[in-house]
Order: sequence, then C-alpha cells, then structure tokens
Amino acid sequence: MISKNDKICYLCGKDKADSKDHIPPKSIFPKKTSNLLTVPTHIKCNKEHEKDDEYFLFFLSVAAFSECKEMKDLWKEKILRSLNRSESHKYKSYINDHINSVDILSEGGIILGNGEVFFAETSRINRILSKIARGIVFKEDGTYIHPSSSIEIQLMKPDIKMLRGDAFCSIGNDIFQYAWHKTDSTFYLWFIFLNV
Ligand SMILES: [Zn+2]
Repeated sequence: MISKNDKICYLCGKDKADSKDHIPPKSIFPKKTSNLLTVPTHIKCNKEHEKDDEYFLFFLSVAAFSECKEMKDLWKEKILRSLNRSESHKYKSYINDHINSVDILSEGGIILGNGEVFFAETSRINRILSKIARGIVFKEDGTYIHPSSSIEIQLMKPDIKMLRGDAFCSIGNDIFQYAWHKTDSTFYLWFIFLNV
C-alpha cells in the first residue's frame, strides 16, 4: 500500500529500515494468526520498546482474564512462563510492586474482605497505545508521525462500535479491531482489544 515508504522506519522516520514490527505487539495474539499488521522499522528502534510490549500483554491479560478464553490460554502458555524465567526477576518484582491489597466493599460501604489489584501505569499504557496509533497511521495512510506529536488518548465504553458502525478492521479473530479516519490535520483512531 505504501511502497514508496517501504524502507522508512515508522518509529524514527529514517530510511534503511532493516526489520518489521507487528501492530499491535505480536505477543497478544494466539499462535496461529495469519493477518497481522506489520510496519518497517529498525531493529534498534524496535528493541527500545520490547519491555513495553511485554508489559502490555500483562496488562491486557489482567484486564480481560475473566472474560476472554484466549487470554486465559495466553496466560498459561506465555505469561507465566515468561515471568518465571530466571532472567525475569526484575520484571517480576516490578509487577509485584504494582500489586496492592485493597478492601472489597459492599454497596453499603461495609468491608467484605481483601483483594489484590494490579495498578497499571497510565503513562506507560498511553505510550504503548500511541505507538500502535503511529503504526496504523503509517500503514494506512503512509504518514510518519513524529514521537513528539500531540497524541490524546481516551478510554471509551465498549459501545464505540455503535458510534463507528462497521468500519472496524479485525486482526487475529477480533483480538484487535481498529477504525480510523482523518480530517485536514488530525487522525482519529478507535481500538478495541479482545472484544470485551
Ligand atoms: Zn528507526
């Protein structure tokens, strides 16, 4: 679609891209997914985001664990295994540091017990979503978005599909869906993860 931009890295905007990146991170899909989106990048640029990709998978799995069978499978196959690697001890303690014990309240405000909650870092999640947005704009429109561009992120209720109709592209059996359009100087993108 964007042959003239084939070798431009979507992360730094320079040429001689020597690798490709999956949008969104490949790790969030089960093994057999055929229609993944890819964009050209440099190995070096891609590497800078590796840890974010791993974090994003963890975040999605916690957010969707109870409602999504695919995520339960991923949890067993990938996430636990990767957390238990000996070289992951730093990552594991980072995750542990962000799990806090909270009181579970009844509707009337009475403490019923105790639960564990994972506190995600908003800035980190936003950085990951911004990268996905830049990848999709690059793929769909051939436009390079500089990292310092203003990107605003909002969480929406799951009924965004009603607002956007059927304009969503589905990747990996609805693990990821997106829609987009642009006006003169602004791109608008909608993402749905895991259809939950
Ligand atoms: Zn690059």
